[in-house]
Amino acid sequence: MTGTGDKDNVVKLRSPRPCPVCARKSVPNFHPFCSKHCADVDLNRWLKGAYAIPAVEPPDDWDEGAGRDDGEDR
Ligand SMILES: [Zn+2]
Repeated sequence: MTGTGDKDNVVKLRSPRPCPVCARKSVPNFHPFCSKHCADVDLNRWLKGAYAIPAVEPPDDWDEGAGRDDGEDR
């Protein structure tokens, strides 16, 4: 008889990772966050960081056009 023994051998999450935002216990639905709120917070952080990395580059015609035109004119 090894029916009950096998069924009891369910793999559980031994080391639940804490929510990276508030360090609370994370839930499977919003893993690795503890709630949708924290998931949104982290997402916003990520988006802000992603938007902050690429600097606003002026179009080529804006700077080079004016500079070259002035220099090559002479
Ligand atoms: Zn959280």
